[in-house]
Amino acid sequence: MRIVFLKESDSEETRVAVSPESVTSLTNLNAQVVIQSGLGEAVGWSDTEYTKAGASVESDAGALLAEPALFPAVQAPPASVISRMPRGSLYAGFLDPFNRGDLIQAFAEAGVSAFSMEMVPRTTRAQKLDALSSQHSIAGYYMVLLAAERLGKAVPMMATPSGVIHPARVLVIGAGVAGLQAIATAKRLGARIEAFDTRPAVKEQVESLGAKFIDIDLGETGEQGGYAKELTPEQQAKQREGMVKALERADIVITTAALFGRPAPVVITDDMLQRMKAGSLIVDYAVATGGNVEGSVAGEEVTLHGVRVIGLKNYAGRVALDASRMYANNIAGLAQIICDRENKAFKIDRDDDIVAGSLITHDGEIVNERIRELHAASA
Ligand code: NAD
Repeated sequence: MRIVFLKESDSEETRVAVSPESVTSLTNLNAQVVIQSGLGEAVGWSDTEYTKAGASVESDAGALLAEPALFPAVQAPPASVISRMPRGSLYAGFLDPFNRGDLIQAFAEAGVSAFSMEMVPRTTRAQKLDALSSQHSIAGYYMVLLAAERLGKAVPMMATPSGVIHPARVLVIGAGVAGLQAIATAKRLGARIEAFDTRPAVKEQVESLGAKFIDIDLGETGEQGGYAKELTPEQQAKQREGMVKALERADIVITTAALFGRPAPVVITDDMLQRMKAGSLIVDYAVATGGNVEGSVAGEEVTLHGVRVIGLKNYAGRVALDASRMYANNIAGLAQIICDRENKAFKIDRDDDIVAGSLITHDGEIVNERIRELHAASA
């Protein structure tokens, strides 16, 4: 039972899927752990640290791909690498299954069983391997630090002989895992925070973190498996109207509104941007899935009507050490479910709800129904 960690193919990906600590968890499962030489260097984990923890280090890419193995990673490799994975191999990582039909097809054709970390069910049992939560959480923290650093205004209140500085006002739109961590971080910095989410259940969590929840009566909004549903055009209009006053007051806006498996909703339109204070700034977390802000650009910072809109693609990767440490634990959590310690072999139990939710390809086919239908429709 080999678990092989290849270097990330995307040179912009700063995170890694294995830590020295997680090597120990994996070897405890009777797995043989192999790491591509230099994999953790940028994060600060040397080859020696990995070998001390029980892994072997290999620099020859051909040798790494010579035998069937579980290949965990942060991002999916390109099709050219997938096709070199021996049949019967397994892959685990962020697969972006709703948008990357090409890669899913490549995994199926290569006979690789691919697990999508995005598709792990958000249940109590699956918490240990909830990579969306671990990465959203780090991102929520980082977005506030980034905004504070860029703002040109102090965040906490300061009463000094030279004058009183009023606390910065932060508005958080979307109070899921990333939004709640953003609120907690902004609170620690001394900001005054308002927040909004379409799921009313979130109100209590927002208030317990010391932020004000903006009450907007949208009528029935509903949830599907814990995720928000798309609003009707009338509800969207009401939401925008209800948020405008808070937007006008805000120095920093963090937008994290997301709809699982669908493009993000636009929650700040161009005319709303025009009503914001000059010098204020927005960090748009949803930019990779279309953006919460009209005009935001993935991977760029743009100024729209005097408001800076930051749209980085990989916020969690800016805190790569801790993001990697948590992600490596998530991968080890998945390995616990698919490694048969006694028989030293992988076992894929499709009756297990975590496996059923996250396994996308198996035995040469796309086995996840929703993903299969989606890509069949677009083929
Ligand atoms: P997400 O990233 O999919 O969405 C972020 C937030 O955006 C959500 O809170 C959503 O309600 C909100 N949103 C959607 N449309 C909006 C709009 N128009 N305006 C404002 N906000 C909008 O969500 P997530 O943070 O990954 O969490 C999703 C759910 O899973 C949450 O209910 C969370 O509590 C739950 N969860 C459960 C567990 C567990 O039980 N183990 C673990 C993690 C998360």
